[in-house]
This record gives sequence, structure tokens and C-alpha cells, in this order.
Amino acid sequence: MKIGILALQGAVREHRSLLRYMGVETVDVLNPQDLHGISGLILPGGESTTVGKLLVRYGLLEPVAEAGRAGLPIFGTCTGLILLSKHINGSAQPRLGLMDTCVERNAFGRQLASFEADIPVPALGEAPFHTVFIRAPYIEQAGEGVTVLLRLEDKILFAREGNLLAAAFHPELTSDTRVHEYFLRMVATAQTSR
Ligand code: GLN
Repeated sequence: MKIGILALQGAVREHRSLLRYMGVETVDVLNPQDLHGISGLILPGGESTTVGKLLVRYGLLEPVAEAGRAGLPIFGTCTGLILLSKHINGSAQPRLGLMDTCVERNAFGRQLASFEADIPVPALGEAPFHTVFIRAPYIEQAGEGVTVLLRLEDKILFAREGNLLAAAFHPELTSDTRVHEYFLRMVATAQTSR
């Protein structure tokens, strides 16, 4: 099983190291051919307007969106969550538009722009997860097909819709592998149901 990591910009190295530490083979995705032979794709954090533009420039926007529509498991962290969303408040920036969600960018205000917190995430087991937020977005609204995995007050911070997984925080910046394990289980299920 090989997991692709969109390598246009952002926290590529951190996802790569965590997956390799878990014994998973990774491949950097920089052009449409790199999508062949991968069983899942990670969209790292970065700057969503930049990554969106680069997706267009590298001819990757449509091929990645098509792969997602065809059932490829895709996991977006932070910028990745924004790119996966159909709606981005107040922005026409390029996106994959695969998840039935509406997101608010840079949503935590200046004082809270970056923060860390230990939060229980029942889908990941009993121990709280150390969540790291960096100029994070949140999901403001989600359609019926979306399973909310973490909500704080009115903010959805971790969610799944079929083959798509989105986190507003950065699990790749911790040594806790449970979010990546959750994604790899989605990948394994997608493979056996093919
Ligand atoms: N604020 C960034 C954006 O809008 C997301 C930040 C991140 O990925 N850490 O793309």
C-alpha cells in the first residue's frame, strides 16, 4: 500500500515522516501521473489559496477531484480541509469541492490564531488527542452525509464523508499516530471493497 502526499507546498515532510515511522510507503504527488498506484492521498496544511493555484498550474486539480469522486480515500489537514470543501465563505479560490461542507478560514481570531489543546476524540479511543491548530479553519455547516468526529461548540474540527477525511488540526505535528491510523483503516476498507 502506497500513500500519496500532495507535495506542492506546506507540511509535506511531517506527514511523510509520520507515515514512514508507521512503516507506510509514501510517494510525493507533484503531477497527475503520481496518482497512479496510490491507495490514498494526503493533502497537507499550508496556504490554501497558494495550493489551490498550484493545483491548477500543475494540472492536478481535476485529476485529484476525479480520483476523489471515484472513491480514492483523501485526507485533508487544515488547508486540505479547505480544499476538500464545496463552500468556502467569502472566497472563490480554486478547490477540489468534494465534501458537502461550508468552511470558514482563519477562523479563530488573532489571539487564538495558533493554539494547542488536549481534546477527547471518541472515534480515536479514550485518551485525549493533542490537537495543534495553526491559523486553522473550521467547518461551519455540514450536509447529512458528513459524520462529525470532533465538534467544539459550534465548530466542526474533524469530519468524514465516505472516502474523505478532514481535520482542522495538524496530527502530523505530534507523534500520536491515531488519526493517520484512522485514515489507513479507511484506505484498507476501500481496497477490500474494490
Ligand atoms: N490559513 C491557512 C489557509 O487558509 C490554513 C493554515 C494551515 O494549513 N495551517 O489555507
